[in-house]
Amino acid sequence: MRDIIDKLYNENNASREELIYLLDNLDEESRSYLIDKAHDTRMKTYGDKVYMRGLIEFTNYCKRNCEYCGIRRGNKEADRYRLSVEEILLCAEIGDKLGYKTYVLQGGEDDYFTDDIMVEIITKIKERFPKNAITLSLGERSYESYERMFKAGADRYLLRHETATKELYKKLHPGASFENRRGCLLNLRKIGYQIGAGFMVGLPNQTTEDLVNDLLYVKELTPEMCGIGPFIPHKDTSLKDEKGGTLEDTITILAIVRLLLPNVLLPATTALGSINPIGRELGIKAGANVVMPNLSPTDVRDKYSLYDGKICTGDEAAECRRCIEGRINRAGFQVEVGRGDNIQWVKEEKLCL
Ligand code: SAM
Repeated sequence: MRDIIDKLYNENNASREELIYLLDNLDEESRSYLIDKAHDTRMKTYGDKVYMRGLIEFTNYCKRNCEYCGIRRGNKEADRYRLSVEEILLCAEIGDKLGYKTYVLQGGEDDYFTDDIMVEIITKIKERFPKNAITLSLGERSYESYERMFKAGADRYLLRHETATKELYKKLHPGASFENRRGCLLNLRKIGYQIGAGFMVGLPNQTTEDLVNDLLYVKELTPEMCGIGPFIPHKDTSLKDEKGGTLEDTITILAIVRLLLPNVLLPATTALGSINPIGRELGIKAGANVVMPNLSPTDVRDKYSLYDGKICTGDEAAECRRCIEGRINRAGFQVEVGRGDNIQWVKEEKLCL
């Protein structure tokens, strides 16, 4: 067991068989060794800095029907909303005052937000806050659409691959294409975005082999960011009675991803904080180095309901900022308010800051 962890630490690599063995046989002592090594690796790459991103959840309309998701098209109970361009700009303004130098614009796949509207939003944010980075997370769109938004000033794009096992993907995403989602990630990279892949831990019927598929996929893709969180059931979906992903499994996977991809930006997700009061802190101690406090207006927060028990739905943006900074400091880390680009990009000077 130690040999595999040492190999991960020294070579940032492991074979399929080694990863399966590791996940199937990890005892408490080895797990704590794994987490120490992941922490050590992050200290070498990013130090004790934790990057802040202001999250703007601007629409919960979605044309997709992902089985696990509370804002899926088929959920008639969802109370739908869209923020106006002005409301989004106000969130950006509040975020800038709170020191967030990256905005994450996230939403369901909502055809209302055409390329023209997205270009208008991106252009206006960049005109007012030229030094701030924009991360988009709007799901699958055409190459031309991604390109127009990039040319308008978007910097990064989060598109979790969700699961790297085709059969599981098909079961969870009726009518969607496994190949198209992966193709989108390649298109985004080709256009010039910093890309973020990612997956859920503890999906119904997910096996160790499936998780290892995810690990090997992200190792090969080498995304600049990787969003990993536990699956959490939502009461209005077909998966409502399933078990969710555990804190332990999610932390273990975060630690392995830090070792496989030492330079990756790795969020301690809201979902992790939702299954355990100190889930995000434990994630940060296992190699995670990004948090995404919410900037959305409080009156829409609980409508962006992807899963049950989501935290931080009532707090004003300033309160979220204070709360998260306190948590990061108490865990022994420091908030970093810069743009927080991927360190490899900064080294290769792909950025024109
Ligand atoms: N529509 C965009 C997309 O498809 O990438 C972004 C929004 S989508 C709701 C954001 C992420 O929420 C998904 O990538 C998925 O991994 C996560 N998510 C959705 N339902 C979830 C659940 N029940 N538990 C945990 N995470 C969930």
